[in-house]
Amino acid sequence: MSSSTNDPSRKSWIAVPQHSDFPIQNIPFGVFLTRDDIITIGTRIGDYAIDLGALHQLGYFDGIELTEDIFLQDSLNDFISDGKKTWRLVRKRIIEIFDAVNPKLRDNEAHRNIVLFTMDEIEMKLPVQIGDYTDFYSSKEHATNIGSMFRDPEKALLPNWLHIPVGYHGRSSTIIPSGTPIRRPKGQTLPKGAENPEFGPSKMVDFELEMAFITTDANKMGETISVTEAEDYIFGLVLFNDWSARDIQKWEYVPLGPFLAKNFASSISPWIVTLDALEPFRTDSPKQDPDPLPYLKLEGKNSFDIQLEAAISPKDGSPTTVARSNFKYMYWTMAQQLAHHTVNGCQVNSGDMMGSGTISGPTADSYGSMLELAWQGTKPITLNGGETRTSIQDYDTVTMRGYCEKGDLRIGFGEVSTQLLPALL
Ligand code: CA
Repeated sequence: MSSSTNDPSRKSWIAVPQHSDFPIQNIPFGVFLTRDDIITIGTRIGDYAIDLGALHQLGYFDGIELTEDIFLQDSLNDFISDGKKTWRLVRKRIIEIFDAVNPKLRDNEAHRNIVLFTMDEIEMKLPVQIGDYTDFYSSKEHATNIGSMFRDPEKALLPNWLHIPVGYHGRSSTIIPSGTPIRRPKGQTLPKGAENPEFGPSKMVDFELEMAFITTDANKMGETISVTEAEDYIFGLVLFNDWSARDIQKWEYVPLGPFLAKNFASSISPWIVTLDALEPFRTDSPKQDPDPLPYLKLEGKNSFDIQLEAAISPKDGSPTTVARSNFKYMYWTMAQQLAHHTVNGCQVNSGDMMGSGTISGPTADSYGSMLELAWQGTKPITLNGGETRTSIQDYDTVTMRGYCEKGDLRIGFGEVSTQLLPALL
């Protein structure tokens, strides 16, 4: 058996379709409802979900210090709280169990029938109970585009942007897993040229192509996490669609920032991919100029080469990919975001979620929102069927995908897919 959990030559005895996001080198973590209506923590290889609660009861994790019910829970929070050493041991053990050359479970049909589920037998749930959700604004291209549209192209970035990973506190109550439809939000807007605001369904619903990382208990109130240690407190990443109502946002955001334009829904992909699985795809982040302050300064490769896509499918229509971006475009890295978040002593807990902010690339087809892609409605996007879009219409489905690829190794996130339904009137 090969030793590295990232060894691309390692194969599983579970057949993995070509171009699957979930080879044996991935081993993401999620929560699902089984065919017997039991909620459990699990992982996925190819098109099979694996019940980790059942595997644990059958003794496959013997020798690893775990409480009996660690996987028989409706969230990953307690497991995440056990820390990186435990996540590593568990991921490594799962890879050993499912390695093609290991007969223990492979040749035990009774155990296989208990542990394995096809994806259509299960329902994915939110993987963590999200205590707090913070959203950053860390793509320089995105911040420049928005600044150019709403203020002045010459002074698109505000003076703090190159010194601070700018962020705001969002709301966790309306974060939902992929597959849950949402309603068009209602709110106050100020129509162009009008003196007084009006109330009604938003006319400019948008997606934001983001990723989010999930933390473990990182510090006590008053303590700081250093930028060099910050990654040790990051469990993993999901795809994140931070739904936004641009017309509501434009009217309400001064002076305290987004409020109701952002907290009506944010969708995530259900499988959390660990930083260990992403390790082969580590890469440089953009060069930072000016130099950040010492508490944010970090040498080395601190980003990941994750290809991102967003597609729109109209009702009964096929998907059109409208944006292709990459996580590596982020100016501020996750380690810098987490170090900054705690530098004042703010406590971060197991299951907290930190959004990257919309990830836009340098080219017009790599922008991470309709606001930018259609440039404030001035450049409509044409879908495959001939319809055009400047924002998301009722019954459209927005699907985001993310994956890393190098040679024969592909590690992916699956998808986050959400349909927008008309406003409740
Ligand atoms: Ca956002």
